[in-house]
Amino acid sequence: MRHSLLPVLALMPLLLAAAPSLRSADRAASIDDPACTAEDRKFMARAYELAEYATTHGGGPFGALLVKDHKIIAEFSNCVHSTGNITKHAEMGIISGFSPRIDRKTFSQSTLYTSTEPCAMCCGAICFAGIGRVVYGVSEIPFERTMGVTPQPNPLTSREIISRISPSIKVLGPLMEEEGLKLHAEYWTKHPEDVGKS
Ligand SMILES: [Zn+2]
Repeated sequence: MRHSLLPVLALMPLLLAAAPSLRSADRAASIDDPACTAEDRKFMARAYELAEYATTHGGGPFGALLVKDHKIIAEFSNCVHSTGNITKHAEMGIISGFSPRIDRKTFSQSTLYTSTEPCAMCCGAICFAGIGRVVYGVSEIPFERTMGVTPQPNPLTSREIISRISPSIKVLGPLMEEEGLKLHAEYWTKHPEDVGKS
């Protein structure tokens, strides 16, 4: 059967007209990673609760949890300020705090949900723990912009870091980014002195 190109060509002006609005949408929250599931949304909501908890308990607005077989097996909220320990990020906190009790097999069968894209330090810990799957809420660049920091011109993403160290680990995100950015906007407006220290 022969197909005509005409319908596609007829759509071109519409597509071109849509381009400026797509570009402006880049500055807002991104759409959810289509590979994420309804269960991922449920656990990401919990990650945001843990991030909010951190803001009143000695940390920046970051939370993470580990889920295996649809059940939460570990949770951690950033506590860098209350502990004075710069490694107490949410993801690192789960791995360093629970790894004596959670073995490698369990890590490999678990999903780590984190409210904001993991930093390079946490990506390294995720790889060395051999966590099977990672889902993050807010991407690094909108997070940095919301915090008031100009992002690096060509930053390494968590996907790049993790895929080059441990290609078998699946990384998904962003997810429910608008919700996470609201938390960041509220926190960093009130705590400009913490920028770059959480
Ligand atoms: Zn980190």
